[in-house]
Amino acid sequence: MLPSPMKAEVISVGTELLLGEILDTNARYLGAQLPALGIDLYYISKVGDNLGRLSEVIDRAWGRSDLVITTGGLGPTEDDLTREAIGRVMDEELQPDPDLERQLRDFFEKRGATMPERNIKQAMLISSSSSIPNPRGTAPGWWVERDNRLIVAMPGPPVEMERMWDKEVVPRLQRHPGAPQSVLVTRTLKTAGIGEGHVDEFVSPLLKGTNPSIGVYARADGVQLRLAAKARTEEEARQLIEPVEAEMRQILGAFVWGADDETMEYAIGEQLRSRGLTLATMESCTGGLLASVITNVPGSSAYFRGGLVSYATEMKTEWGVGADVIAEHGAVSAETAQAMARVARERLGADIGVGITGVAGPDSQEEKPPGTVHVAVDTGMIEPQTLSYQFAQSREAVKRRAVATALTLVRRTLLDWEGGA
Ligand code: AMP
Ligand code: MG
Repeated sequence: MLPSPMKAEVISVGTELLLGEILDTNARYLGAQLPALGIDLYYISKVGDNLGRLSEVIDRAWGRSDLVITTGGLGPTEDDLTREAIGRVMDEELQPDPDLERQLRDFFEKRGATMPERNIKQAMLISSSSSIPNPRGTAPGWWVERDNRLIVAMPGPPVEMERMWDKEVVPRLQRHPGAPQSVLVTRTLKTAGIGEGHVDEFVSPLLKGTNPSIGVYARADGVQLRLAAKARTEEEARQLIEPVEAEMRQILGAFVWGADDETMEYAIGEQLRSRGLTLATMESCTGGLLASVITNVPGSSAYFRGGLVSYATEMKTEWGVGADVIAEHGAVSAETAQAMARVARERLGADIGVGITGVAGPDSQEEKPPGTVHVAVDTGMIEPQTLSYQFAQSREAVKRRAVATALTLVRRTLLDWEGGA
């Protein structure tokens, strides 16, 4: 039996979070960090800079969680109230700590300034708290320990918070007597070209297992399978995942294109590079987004020749798309996408050309509804491939979906074109 894990709760402090002025990326960061430490996160709260409400939220967290993590509200200004609220919940008085005060005054002196007196707040402690160093800013964190429970208070700016978490808090948590005795390791397999229902059906014999547990999720770039294993060590957890992952790969075969943080553009790049093939693009409705995404991968110059953006219809013909094709089928058609793919391949001297044409919206074009997208891939060797879709989404989302579709089609072409090395 694994010992019961530490129950954690994250509180993000700041009125700007409630107003939607900034996104709560701190909670997301911490949420992603805790599983590997074997700590279960049960709640994330956001609360404004108000002493009463902040104390209320901390008090509730203190009553139900082993580890309370706050970020924000440690600044020098009057609306930074996290220390005061913790003091109130613990019923302990805030006192300036002489060492902290000296460090703080030094910090300002080194920068040729005198410390504004209100910064003295940042040198305060209560008897249950000790300070956590913050070399990236003036606000030290607080490590509060009482009644077998912990509060960790960290500053709001992500660069300060993330360093403090990584360099100070994690080592302390690992040394703590109440430290979790288990870790959670996850592995994500990414698929394309197969629906959620089918994936679920294919792997259903494996879904019954509980360690690793398996989740099936539909994402923009395909269906993902998430395996999560709990064990005493990372090594043990990986050993639990390995055979199940192997079985999954066996069942899903070529539908699996990557794992964990791998992106489709990266996976395709690896394929192109290892097979010595090159790629070129000609885009209309995506305005160069496909080329941009492809070049997000370091080293893409080894296989990406370049891209043409032919936004106006005349530019399509100017670069070599047949005027007859456009006259007969329209600028937004599978035939035009195919011609664009061929033009990209020929004009840019690549092995594989990709063409995208469509209506990003919000208005229709050639009586084709917004969201209509045609994508084609041409190799000059095997039958050109096309995919046509209608995405009922916003302009930017249509562009992103069109790019994802194009990448999927390139991948499919590479699979079909085995002799293309
Ligand atoms: P504070 O310590 O509350 O004064 O926060 C200082 C600054 O840190 C804010 O103005 C934000 O730019 C940033 N910040 C605070 N909380 C968060 C959060 N939860 N996620 C991302 N950034 C944050
Ligand atoms: Mg604030």
